[in-house]
Amino acid sequence: MYQILSKILFNKEVSPTYYNMGVDCPEIASRAAPGQFIMVRVSNQLDPLLRRPFVIHRIQRANTGSDSQVEILYKVVGKGTEIMSEMKECDEIDLLGPVGNGYRIDTNIRTAVLVGGGIGVAPLLSLAERIISQCSKLKSLILLLGGKGRDDVLCVEEFERLGVEVRVATEDGRLGHRGLVVDLLLDYLESRDYSPGSSTHCFACGPDSMLKEVSKIIAEKGISCQISLESRMACALGACLGCIVRTKSGGDVYKKVCKDGPVFDSNEIIWE
Ligand SMILES: Cc1cc2nc3c(=O)[nH]c(=O)nc-3n(C[C@H](O)[C@H](O)[C@H](O)COP(=O)(O)OP(=O)(O)OC[C@H]3O[C@@H](n4cnc5c(N)ncnc54)[C@H](O)[C@@H]3O)c2cc1C
Repeated sequence: MYQILSKILFNKEVSPTYYNMGVDCPEIASRAAPGQFIMVRVSNQLDPLLRRPFVIHRIQRANTGSDSQVEILYKVVGKGTEIMSEMKECDEIDLLGPVGNGYRIDTNIRTAVLVGGGIGVAPLLSLAERIISQCSKLKSLILLLGGKGRDDVLCVEEFERLGVEVRVATEDGRLGHRGLVVDLLLDYLESRDYSPGSSTHCFACGPDSMLKEVSKIIAEKGISCQISLESRMACALGACLGCIVRTKSGGDVYKKVCKDGPVFDSNEIIWE
């Protein structure tokens, strides 16, 4: 894990209250895997004191061919993200990372189903890129994306440019299916000739309510599924125990989202 002062390459609003920040940080980019995250120090002042966690949205290559930049896709929800949204190109930002485990990618995957809710789409773009580059038997890569309204549905073009089939649901019905992303998942699983135990894998990130529902649906089908949790956390070093989650591993064991996650097998979590 590296702590570095990195140069901001861009920081642009991609949809109302959503920003994409690119930072130059070869040390982190060259070691980062989809699903891992970075702890960002948003201010030199005492408030906000704690670093804020953000998953790695994209890992980009420089002309030299080595990974040198990472992108953070974020939603402004409070003081820290407000400060981040005001940062400018060439400003310096203090980063710690990469942190956490990231998604495991089985190179025998034939069908990958990505499920994202709102800002939960953030880790799925680098994941899609990695699946495409590593899984030579891949036949189908689909993204099911949900948001409250059309402004909360991000990155559709970026996924389509990769050749990913994208299906969208919005709660207000102004884009795609009117309803929840889990409706799309149920629809998708019902509409295809699917055999349990096949090389179909599901990867999800979004609010807990969505992940809980996805885990339930997936468990009934017997598909393997990894979910990325975004519990509130303070230190990200496994010391403060602020981000513990109840799991079935070894019976009933509390794990740390920052150290043991943020990615878990969906059947491992005991939902409260
Ligand atoms: C591993 C991990 C990865 C994350 N990746 C991303 C990402 O890629 N993009 C992104 O936009 N956000 C991500 N988050 C959430 C992000 O860290 C918080 O939104 C951010 O820390 C809020 O900081 P703030 O100072 O703006 O808000 P605060 O002032 O700290 O809080 C403002 C409001 O947001 C709520 N809030 C804060 N953190 C969370 C959280 N983790 N989950 C739910 N509600 C929260 C608070 O309860 C409060 O209501 C991630 C969180 C984790 C744990």
